[in-house]
Amino acid sequence: MVGCDDFKFKERFKAMSPSERLNSVPISMELTYNYCGGEHFSFFFDRLKERRLFGVACPSCKSVYVPPRPFCGSCCVRTSGWVEVGPNGTIEACSEIFLPILDPSTGLQRKVPHTMVLVRLDGTHSCLHHVLHGEETPQIGDRVELLFAETCVGHMKDVLGFRRKESSPDLRREISKESFPSAEPMVVTGQVKIPFSFTMGDVGREFFSQLKNQKLKALQCKRCNEVHLPPTRYCKSCMSQDQSWIDVKPYGLLKGLVYISDKEREGLPREAMGWALVEMEGLKSSFLHYILDRGLKIGDHVKLQFQEHRVGSILDIKGFCR
Ligand SMILES: [Zn+2]
Ligand SMILES: [Zn+2]
Repeated sequence: MVGCDDFKFKERFKAMSPSERLNSVPISMELTYNYCGGEHFSFFFDRLKERRLFGVACPSCKSVYVPPRPFCGSCCVRTSGWVEVGPNGTIEACSEIFLPILDPSTGLQRKVPHTMVLVRLDGTHSCLHHVLHGEETPQIGDRVELLFAETCVGHMKDVLGFRRKESSPDLRREISKESFPSAEPMVVTGQVKIPFSFTMGDVGREFFSQLKNQKLKALQCKRCNEVHLPPTRYCKSCMSQDQSWIDVKPYGLLKGLVYISDKEREGLPREAMGWALVEMEGLKSSFLHYILDRGLKIGDHVKLQFQEHRVGSILDIKGFCR
């Protein structure tokens, strides 16, 4: 698999001969997804809109975690009970960064130097990692407060970082008795794009290059005699790779057909009337392609027709006619 948006791939694609290009088709797959925040994050972000931070407590060791998590990592029990925490806290670790790092959420370069801190918010037993604003060099144990965005929308970006606070008492709060106050479930919709290059392999290459010469070829298994059309790398019956190419006569029996109405023919070539499933002469398997004539019925003998100009693709076959 090669990323077709990748610069190197584009260069390589340009350098390919036309037949190589046919054997490697760049495809981009777009998948839309809904990511659900679950009960913990839904509640956490919902309160963040009101500039309030909540942690979740372990019923066994009483540790309070921010951001909230469904299980206590120390006791392996389900957490329950919300505790309002912060917005003040204590620096547990800090580092001054002299590298010109890009902020992953904005794509802009962060100030050089800038300070990153690990802060244990009052009332919690876990740390939050964020930027410390201000000029003074911090010390472990310094008191800080959380800096919120001007407008909070219920997103991690509502928290801008920390700033120093001269003195404030470390307050612990009571663990809420009610288990989970309800919140609208948070759902994030996004899209991933997966560019890749689809290649036909050596079997496909041979099959399509023969189509160019108006020859329909199939692979026959030397072990069980099964014939595969379109050809496959392995015999579908016995998984053997030991196969040889055979010629397929361009005639067959119509085993199934679908005629397409004028309204539904979007994307079909002009001459195609629908789809035909044809059992090729001498073969047990059926081959699917366009039907070119109207009025055919199942059991009729049909003939494969090639395009006048062929490039080595499945569309070198025009379809089946009477
Ligand atoms: Zn615990
Ligand atoms: Zn076989």
